[in-house]
Amino acid sequence: MNPLNQYVLFLSLIFSLFFVNSFLVFVNSISPTCSSPSSDNNNEYPAVFDAIASINPKAPLNAGKNRTSSSCSRGSPTSCKIWDVTCSEAVLGLARKPDNVEWIKGLRRKIHENPELAFEEYETSKLIRTELDRMEIDYRYPLAKTGIRAWIGTGGPPFVAIRADMDALPIQEGVEWEHKSKVPGKMHACGHDAHVAMLVGAAKILKNREHLLKGTVILLFQPAEEAGNGAKRMIGDGALENVEAIFAVHVSHEHPTATIGSRTGPLLAGCGFFRAVISGRKGLASNPHHSVDPILAASAAVISLQGIVSRESNPLDSQVVSVTSFNGGSNLNMIPDTVIIGGTFRAFSNASFYNLLQRIQEVVVEQAGVFRCSATVDFFENDSTIYPPTVNDDRMYEHVKKVATDLLGPQNFRVVPPMMGAEDFSFYTQIVPAAFYYIGVRNETLGSIHTGHSPYFMIDEDVLPIGAAVHASIAERYLNEHG
Ligand SMILES: [Zn+2]
Ligand SMILES: [Zn+2]
Repeated sequence: MNPLNQYVLFLSLIFSLFFVNSFLVFVNSISPTCSSPSSDNNNEYPAVFDAIASINPKAPLNAGKNRTSSSCSRGSPTSCKIWDVTCSEAVLGLARKPDNVEWIKGLRRKIHENPELAFEEYETSKLIRTELDRMEIDYRYPLAKTGIRAWIGTGGPPFVAIRADMDALPIQEGVEWEHKSKVPGKMHACGHDAHVAMLVGAAKILKNREHLLKGTVILLFQPAEEAGNGAKRMIGDGALENVEAIFAVHVSHEHPTATIGSRTGPLLAGCGFFRAVISGRKGLASNPHHSVDPILAASAAVISLQGIVSRESNPLDSQVVSVTSFNGGSNLNMIPDTVIIGGTFRAFSNASFYNLLQRIQEVVVEQAGVFRCSATVDFFENDSTIYPPTVNDDRMYEHVKKVATDLLGPQNFRVVPPMMGAEDFSFYTQIVPAAFYYIGVRNETLGSIHTGHSPYFMIDEDVLPIGAAVHASIAERYLNEHG
């Protein structure tokens, strides 16, 4: 290379360096010192909210406004002892990773294809344990036949529990889709497949953040919510050992996907059934004075049962007594020996619920006596068909509301009215402070508009990662605030 060329090359180099430097100065002058959410590695975070907003377009999320102010702190280590938006972002970030979303949907579909009824959830339970093993999460098995009690965290107090139910229903699925139930006459028509998937999803998030936990999260996978009082048996087998608070979610077709709903105090009614046998003496209908007529006695009992709620209960304390069957046989010419009546009763407090039980017993027996009959009333207590009311603790409800609002935005939290349905989570609420909440799965476009226990029930699977994130945040934040 001749000297002239060397000189030209030298000038070019100087010019290039000057140009690059000027460009960088210019770029810095128009950019903040920290990266914006859309330009860093977590740039899928807004997408999560956009996804929710597109599902529920009338409910823009507030998280966006926090995002700007907090984006500068992203990346700086936080213990989440004082929870801020970066903690919510981190949890959602784990939940919404594409491979995680696929995994959690796959899990739900596998469970949906193989529904198992109460106390028969062997394969579902095995699937859960396989996932727990993979994540190196310790657990105790079995509780209540097929149930699991897993734990993540320090192993010490405080202990906070999250629960999912595993059982399906004896219903033939009416939805035609790729992952339809493969078992004739059985279906996950109440969304318990989604409950399991969301809790396993939460386990993965919590395991990932185990170093941040200031106590221990107990994961309860329980059998037999629909029938058999699985929760009661789980408690009997030590599910709530050391536990000081418990939370659970149920999918709901009444709310748009990923909207959380709950309320303080009574949320779901207590539910009981009764069957009364009223006995008299058989006789020809043409000579009724030779018989002791249980038809008349049972009729009077049915009328008097209506007086319990309408005349004895506070109208502001909602209660129901419904007689749903009346059977005296089919002989049109004979007064029968016995009449069997039956029905159900509901109330929102334990006091009202057990008062109804006692009054149904008294009214039937006493009214039978008026017409010289005798009566026995069975409340099926040994068959585990009694569900107490589900009553949310004020502080636990506030915790759910706070976590959901911070995670998903205030527009995605709703205060819901009490419902007359029942749920065996109520057994836990009788022992430790608890909160039960709904997560919406309603999406008209997909057709997820049918109520639970319908053969056409289906969910919007986009709820799964978000439900997992809500579970995980509720538990982690509880420990951080109480540990
Ligand atoms: Zn159900
Ligand atoms: Zn259910």
